Amino acid sequence: MLTLTRYADIVLPLAQPAYTFAVPDDVTVEVGDAVSVQFGPRRYYTGIVWRLHDERPPVKRVKSILRKLCDRPLLSQAQCDLWEWMASYYLCTLGEVMRCALPALMKPSADSDAQLLDDEFHPRTERYFSLAEPYASDEQALGEQLDRFERRAPRLYEALLEVASNEGLRSRGEVARRLLSAESTPLLTLCRKGILTLHEHPRSEDYTAGQFRLPVLSEVQRQALATLQAEFAAGKTASLLYGVTGSGKTEIYIHLIAEVLARGGDVLLLVPEIALTAQLIERMERIFGSRVTAYHSRLTDHRRSQTYLQLNRSQGGEFVVGVRSSIFLPLKHLQLIIVDEEHDASYKQTEPAPRYEARDVAVYVAHQQGIHALLGSATPSLETWYNARRGKYGLASLTERYGGAALPTLYLSDIRRAARRNERGGHFNKLLLDKIGQTLERGEQVILFQNRRGFALYLECPECGWTARCPECNVSLTYHKQRNQLLCHYCGHTAEAMTRCPSCRVVELQPMGFGTEKLEEQLAEFFPEARIARLDRDSVTSERAFNAIIADFAARRTDLLVGTQMVTKGFDFEGVALVGVLNADNLLNNPDFRATERAFQLLTQVAGRAGRRSTQGEVVIQTADPHHPILQQVLQGDYEQMAAALLSERSDFGYPPFARLTMVTLRHRDLSLLRRGAVAFTDQLRARFGRRVAGPVPPPVDRIRGEYLLSVRLKIEAGASLGRANTLLREALQMMAQHPDFKSITISVNVDPQ
Ligand code: ADP
Ligand code: ZN
Ligand code: ZN
Repeated sequence: MLTLTRYADIVLPLAQPAYTFAVPDDVTVEVGDAVSVQFGPRRYYTGIVWRLHDERPPVKRVKSILRKLCDRPLLSQAQCDLWEWMASYYLCTLGEVMRCALPALMKPSADSDAQLLDDEFHPRTERYFSLAEPYASDEQALGEQLDRFERRAPRLYEALLEVASNEGLRSRGEVARRLLSAESTPLLTLCRKGILTLHEHPRSEDYTAGQFRLPVLSEVQRQALATLQAEFAAGKTASLLYGVTGSGKTEIYIHLIAEVLARGGDVLLLVPEIALTAQLIERMERIFGSRVTAYHSRLTDHRRSQTYLQLNRSQGGEFVVGVRSSIFLPLKHLQLIIVDEEHDASYKQTEPAPRYEARDVAVYVAHQQGIHALLGSATPSLETWYNARRGKYGLASLTERYGGAALPTLYLSDIRRAARRNERGGHFNKLLLDKIGQTLERGEQVILFQNRRGFALYLECPECGWTARCPECNVSLTYHKQRNQLLCHYCGHTAEAMTRCPSCRVVELQPMGFGTEKLEEQLAEFFPEARIARLDRDSVTSERAFNAIIADFAARRTDLLVGTQMVTKGFDFEGVALVGVLNADNLLNNPDFRATERAFQLLTQVAGRAGRRSTQGEVVIQTADPHHPILQQVLQGDYEQMAAALLSERSDFGYPPFARLTMVTLRHRDLSLLRRGAVAFTDQLRARFGRRVAGPVPPPVDRIRGEYLLSVRLKIEAGASLGRANTLLREALQMMAQHPDFKSITISVNVDPQ
């Protein structure tokens, strides 16, 4: 009798190619299944079945799959295709894609295979409220209770009134949370007081459009929505929603999301990697209830695995709000991907491989699955803008803020001129100090932005010029006063902060430059009455700490918020009337070719936090170079002019979107070996690519954690064959990996560096 032994190529969460295992007779597997295998002496891994075949691999003993871990495949065919594409486009292995795509618990590697996937199906529930007795049957009792609240507890009054007057309550005796606009706190208080009762029911499957309370759109918003709908109907894969800050892009998303959910499709809303997602998720939950699934890095591993498995079983109608890695979730009825703040740098994964850009992947997925991608921003990336302008993407614009709120008034405040006139206090120009004072007096709030944390950028000896540097990295150490420490922002190395210069031993070290910590200290001196909070990586030690800082500021328990990049993103606080940027110059004086684009985006976004409601907002940007063209464009709020100018520059010099860059970084402790290896690598590339190769050169920080770095850049014209370029690049990487000396060099490849 002929026995057919079958084999399966299994992808393991390692930077290795797929390995072939035998499929035992009593195990049935299909492509996409998760299986347990033993690999290496006494190491067990979860692997994904990638290919089934009958080709016995040329080794003595073929190991067998131990067992199947899940009763249905973890990956659909579309997901397998996506992984393949990512490995090939971003030049990494399928195993590296797996490491990044699956939640940690789903790919345990251990010295026993005891761990099993928790594959129980927990049905999702949603919250309903009903009136408790006697209020449900006795209208008079209800009326009296309402009267009492009306005078003493207006928030409870409004929440109770909303529940009591809801149609659903009348007909079914209870009302879904998602149909109420009341906030959660008063609703839960009413439950505690025994006036309302809370029920959890399995999630409703009835989601016809009428089941959502959608915001009523303004005329311009309706037009933008209609434009997007028409473009999608006409077959555009991707569209850009270009809308100034506060114009109501979110409201347009909501309408598009409701449409898809009502017909049973899935929606993915990608948001930048910031703790602020909580605000947006809460907003979405109030409309879409338990359809909303949050997916971000602050969830526990268990929760993320559970989410993955739940979605994997879903019949459709899912709405995921998540950070970049949610692009890997098993949404089988996906119809729409929205990328909010599509210009945001956190969509790019920089470490480890795959170094992917989630916005680009979203557009790829939309194209691959024949669905739609919507990219939203007030300051689109030049790549997206370029694609929209030449008609590759659709384009809808919102040029005014919702409700007639005016865009803020901007002032450029010259640091050098203020210094000459003695109009400086600490790191503030008089203009900014005056405006802070006036704003606080009016009882309004202020946000101040400085893109460095810590107290001083470094300590320097005024006598001999000595500065404290990291022993492992080629950077100076940042001085953190509260902790009294010097800290390396690259490797985390810490040292006790010394006062005397350790080199000449004569004088005291001077703190040079400034970070958020120092600003906080100066503000406390200038405005002793003000309640000041700081938002940066030092003050945000946990999600709880972050939420507390935000909640205090939102409730106006603090007046002044000083922070790094964290304060620039997506906040919607109605009390903020003034935004100050302490030093715009360190955004502009950056060697990166994207520096000016990023500076424009960041300044416009941070300015957009001011005056989002009725009051006229103000923004003061301090700079030593007020005539810098980018600052002038920020001042005029002229994104389109900025984009046109930068695109023409990029075209002249052959930068993205007119070329594609790939950055290869080589690292080793031994500088001379590294140099020789980098030269050999570059020579091989140059033989194929000629002048498209630049380097090797040391990057701006050329030593990190004791390893030296050299980088090589490859620039390919837009329109040239990427497949061919990647093949040649792979060959050069292969040569290095097989070379007796150079194989110890760590090489990382970054396609489309940000
Ligand atoms: P963006 O995302 O474009 O910055 P948002 O969607 O956050 O703008 O809207 C700004 C503010 O205006 C929000 O507080 C939002 O609730 C409000 N808003 C915008 N459009 C509407 C609308 N159609 N109805 C009610 N409120 C709206
Ligand atoms: Zn000295
Ligand atoms: Zn260091």
